[in-house]
Amino acid sequence: MSLEQPGTILIVDDESINIAVLTDILEERYEILFATDGKKAMELAKTAQPDLILLDVKMPGMDGHEVCARLKEERDTANIPIIFVTAMSDVNDEARGLELGAMDYITKPVSPPVVKARVRNQIELKNARDQLMRLAITDGLTGLSNRRHFDGALEKEHQRLARSRGLLSLILFDLDHFKAFNDTYGHLAGDDCLRQVGGMVLQTLTRVADLGARYGGEEFVCLLPETSHDGAVVMAEKLRAGIQGLKIPHAKSSAAKMVTTSLGVVTVRCIAGRSPLHVVALADEQLYAAKSAGRNRVQALRFDAP
Ligand code: GH3
Ligand code: MG
Ligand code: MG
Repeated sequence: MSLEQPGTILIVDDESINIAVLTDILEERYEILFATDGKKAMELAKTAQPDLILLDVKMPGMDGHEVCARLKEERDTANIPIIFVTAMSDVNDEARGLELGAMDYITKPVSPPVVKARVRNQIELKNARDQLMRLAITDGLTGLSNRRHFDGALEKEHQRLARSRGLLSLILFDLDHFKAFNDTYGHLAGDDCLRQVGGMVLQTLTRVADLGARYGGEEFVCLLPETSHDGAVVMAEKLRAGIQGLKIPHAKSSAAKMVTTSLGVVTVRCIAGRSPLHVVALADEQLYAAKSAGRNRVQALRFDAP
């Protein structure tokens, strides 16, 4: 959460004078976007992802309540807080807006200090919520995704790709002789090594859809949707070389005398009804084979079900 970056506010009102009044109050502290009808507001909310929406209730066409209901239905906009700004002082309207998911109400004519205070409250809450959500999906040591986030992403990607029988590749890898590393250099050095490996994963994965996660203690996983087998093997080899290239000394490792990894790669065609967990099991078999074959290597399987 950064209080130095106060955020972006989308103001929605069919009367430009109202937009001007609110802009005047808020522009000193926030970046302001505006829309003069519900349809434009929805588009802008989706593309610009504001931190807060100030929404007029009474508008021709789609009114504020409908805009609110629709924003709450869409995944991309459901978490953007909404404050209604309305001349109507009927408590029933207020209740309806709050039931639809609005966070607060401001009545017109607006009072500048009230607007500032209510806006600041909602933006602070939003920042705190965002940070909690980030923490909940992040591995604290490496900054990669955590296991829970990976499990969810795998399930979702598998389901999505099953609709088109698309390809999904997975790289599962594990540091070689890491117990000996900890025994020799200590646990803190071990943690630092894991952090560096995490950095290499982030640096190596370039596509937005790719996901790197810490799978367990010194095990990592990369989820590569719509990636061919050859492409995934290239990525795995890049990871292997990149991690060895970190040149972290490891006197007790078998050959390289520096930290290395063993990697298992599997590519499957996603099929509806099949559990995505089999993909992890297959990658794990490949990882085990890479260990048995001498470590510091990539072992791969193309599992193209008919
Ligand atoms: P192999 O080459 O077969 O993978 O051998 P290994 O020693 O890496 O495998 P093993 O599973 O026996 O040991 C894994 C070690 O990883 C044990 C544990 O001390 C270490 N480890 C797991 N999580 C962490 C962590 O968060 N920090 C540190 N420093 N070490 C960890
Ligand atoms: Mg290991
Ligand atoms: Mg292990």
